[in-house]
Amino acid sequence: MKIAILPGDGIGTEIIEEAVKVLNALGQPFDMESAPVGGAGYEAHGHPLPEGTLKLAKEADAILFGAVGDWKYDTLERSLRPEQAILGLRKHLTLFANFRPAILYPELVGASTLKPEVVSGLDILIVRELNGDIYFGQPRGVREAPDGLFKGAREGFDTMRYAEPEIRRIAHVAFQAARKRGKRLTSVDKANVLETFQFWKDIVTDVHKEYPDIELDHMYVDNAAMQLVRAPKKFDVIVTGNMFGDILSDAAAMLTGSIGMLPSASLDANSKGLYEPSHGSAPDIAGKGIANPLATILSAAMMLRFSLNLPAEADRIENAVKKVLAQGLRTPDIHEAGTTKVGTAEMGDAVVKALA
Ligand code: NAD
Repeated sequence: MKIAILPGDGIGTEIIEEAVKVLNALGQPFDMESAPVGGAGYEAHGHPLPEGTLKLAKEADAILFGAVGDWKYDTLERSLRPEQAILGLRKHLTLFANFRPAILYPELVGASTLKPEVVSGLDILIVRELNGDIYFGQPRGVREAPDGLFKGAREGFDTMRYAEPEIRRIAHVAFQAARKRGKRLTSVDKANVLETFQFWKDIVTDVHKEYPDIELDHMYVDNAAMQLVRAPKKFDVIVTGNMFGDILSDAAAMLTGSIGMLPSASLDANSKGLYEPSHGSAPDIAGKGIANPLATILSAAMMLRFSLNLPAEADRIENAVKKVLAQGLRTPDIHEAGTTKVGTAEMGDAVVKALA
């Protein structure tokens, strides 16, 4: 089982180190190979996604990714900025299905900004389409407005589009995910205003015929945003497009107290995937040894479950994380009175110990 380890920048290197420690402690024959990506890729080879890194990612059975980015690269031309590495990997490996679970551990109820009765017991999954929508649709750019009230003025424009097979494949992924959980799926759209999302809704409804055991409902994105902070526990699995998913999944992240707790997976049609924490490279705390490594450690657990077919090992890691939280260990982002503040490496060590 070959795992490509791409630490990236900022806290990326610190949190990946802890996840690798945990993987090594499982006693499995993993073949782990590291390569630079993001700003580190640019420094080493002049490109955020160097050829050798992409080759390794293609050869591997799964990719464990830290985070990329630093303000110092903001003046580079867009194609050379660290964040392009993520878009490049998604595109080259056709990673179209993004899984973002939002689980609130009972010990962290106090770390959420919402009232305990609203969030305690929260366990939802957002499935976000990752390869299409207005983020990739052509044409796009800045031009002279061809018509309308502001004809002749400069205007910025993007194109929202989804092809039928694109909607079908993400709908299948979401229905199958719902089947393994609470058997309820909410498809989030904006069918009342957007043609693309009326089409989305029609296709999801059609795919539903193949999953009669799953309860499907449709919700407009504005209502979904409201329900996520009003009554988030009503959801089981949410499926939505690239842009709506981007926004809703970050809102869902905060329900759980800290973005430092949230893993994610981006999968292709054969369950090969890239696994990464939901957060970025946090340049503000990089090098201080205080970043929370749990999102990355939990991403490694998702990798074992979805790509490497080792569900028992995934359970072991997730149980170890629960155990260290129950022991009262907290990195500063989730620290509260009465708990023990620890750094990145101490948290990783505690998870390794709890595996036993
Ligand atoms: P960020 O997620 O890096 O940080 C936001 C806030 O959350 C910061 O205050 C940070 O200290 C805190 N935080 C994040 N992860 C944490 C952790 N594990 N433990 C404790 N605190 C944590 O977002 P940002 O500051 O907007 O972006 C920083 C850089 O990361 C930018 O260059 C951005 O483009 C990049 N970025 C990369 C990814 C990715 O690699 N997938 C995702 C988002 C942002």
